[in-house]
Amino acid sequence: MAKKLKVGWFSFSCSEDSTIIFTELLNDHYLEWKNLIDFRSILVMQKKSEIHNLDVAFIEGAITSSEQEEKLKTIRQNSKKLVAVGSCAVIGMPSSQRNLFDEKLNQEIAEILIRFQYSAKVRKVSELVKVDDTVPGCPMNEKVFLDLVNKYLQEFGVSRA
Ligand code: SF4
Repeated sequence: MAKKLKVGWFSFSCSEDSTIIFTELLNDHYLEWKNLIDFRSILVMQKKSEIHNLDVAFIEGAITSSEQEEKLKTIRQNSKKLVAVGSCAVIGMPSSQRNLFDEKLNQEIAEILIRFQYSAKVRKVSELVKVDDTVPGCPMNEKVFLDLVNKYLQEFGVSRA
């Protein structure tokens, strides 16, 4: 069987607009990608989610809880390459706005943080794990994303022939 690029797409705290861009890209690229990419995890397409022996993990969103932090670290341990996708993952903002709250606002949200087991601070992906590449933009820049997919297809020896 022809080699495929093993890919996972994971969304953390965010509006998931880069996921929407990705699904729109599938309209144009699915027929090509289905022969080249093995989608191991992408909740908008399928229920099964396999975090094991991935070639590339795409991470959308900022990290807002210890549970998310653990999941991100598991993904990192099981992925050869990890890509932060979209501004929230790359620089934390706008998902990390509450990091800038003053004391009064922090007191107002304190109970919510406890109830939903949120961390004291929202963190960008690179604060917690090594990031190999980034796709900037809010939502992600389509061209940079497509260039990266093509780069990894080549790097992992996945042939279009
Ligand atoms: S980067 Fe922008 S579009 Fe993407 S999740 Fe964050 S707020 Fe939404």
